Amino acid sequence: MQDKKPSVETNLVHSAYQAPEGFEAFPPAVYRASTIFFPDVAALRSRRWQEKEFYTYGTHGTPTTYTLEARLAEIEGADYCRVVPSGLSALTVVNFAFLQAGDDVLMPENIYSPNREFVEWMEKRFNITARFYQPMIGADIEREIKPNTKLIWVETPGSVSMEVDDIPAICAVAHKHGALVALDNTWSAGIYYKGFEHGADVIVQALTKYQSGAADVLMGAVLTKDRALNKKIEFAHMILGLSVGADDVNLILRSLPSLKVRLDAHGASALSIAQWLSQRPEIAKVLHPAFEDCPGHAIWKRDFTGSSGLFSVIFKPDFTEAQIDQFVNALSLFKIGYSWGGPVSLCLPYRMNEMRDTWHQEGQLVRFNVGFESEQDLITDIEQALKAM
Ligand SMILES: *Cc1c(COP(=O)(O)O)cnc(C)c1O
Repeated sequence: MQDKKPSVETNLVHSAYQAPEGFEAFPPAVYRASTIFFPDVAALRSRRWQEKEFYTYGTHGTPTTYTLEARLAEIEGADYCRVVPSGLSALTVVNFAFLQAGDDVLMPENIYSPNREFVEWMEKRFNITARFYQPMIGADIEREIKPNTKLIWVETPGSVSMEVDDIPAICAVAHKHGALVALDNTWSAGIYYKGFEHGADVIVQALTKYQSGAADVLMGAVLTKDRALNKKIEFAHMILGLSVGADDVNLILRSLPSLKVRLDAHGASALSIAQWLSQRPEIAKVLHPAFEDCPGHAIWKRDFTGSSGLFSVIFKPDFTEAQIDQFVNALSLFKIGYSWGGPVSLCLPYRMNEMRDTWHQEGQLVRFNVGFESEQDLITDIEQALKAM
């Protein structure tokens, strides 16, 4: 090329300036990219997108996504991690990766309900059978396993009703029969429950909850220690196009250093509020794994190192649904809304007999997410709402 200076348009795209090297600071850099350059055609032809020592295309990862994936893998004790655009897409990618026509999948009745809806949708379209077992089944899961049972889901504690099932017992039986166990470990954030040590093959996290911690980003993660399983996850992740934007990843990276401190704070407040509620005449039962009468309390004591900020209560049966709605409406610090794990306290009523095939407990169920407001202010709020009811 000639010495002539490039035109302004070209220079706006191809600037020769490079910032000096040697910049060091605590926050990792944010790399936003769709196209990633190869140094030459030989590199283009030899790089494989599955291998994280290379970069190939934005959907497969950048230093920013690789950094979050590596840090989440460290927390969970995994060797492989993929981030996806939501907790729900983390669940669906596992179902897509490990189920095919003719397979059978087992799920506890207290599973996060969109996961159940997803396998029921697969059942109709892809000739899969999905069956739902009772929480607290433990080693008796053996009765339910068929020769074509490929995947067994577990969640501990179970969504909304908070039973703590015996995951090591389920894993031992599943592995004997050649089935994989996938664990939704969102409640413990991978801090209070080490799922791989208890036998899980694949772990899913809804990073939307505690890893975000700010109620401002949706994301999920799929983790494993097994190279062959990871290949299947990677492939499903790629063909489904489940890539995540660098700025969202950065929001999670920014929250991660305070994860344990936040979780401990949520957990301590939630426990005191649950204890206060258990003394109230309106409440029939508190559903919280640290309570002795919670199904699986002994397993929680054996396998967990703490409890987080989410629990439920059952009101005495003499309170009608309309009264419970009044109670929830009367709360002012506790907001009405889905998700949890952020700074704001939340409260939701659930119609359990619509969510479960078998639900025998009388009385309305209400779920609390305890945020960072003062414990005393939250108790005062609940107290006035109970009066209003
Ligand atoms: C919220 C949640 C999910 C889904 O996460 P999203 O990011 O909201 O899609 C999955 N599992 C559990 C246990 C959850 O609480």
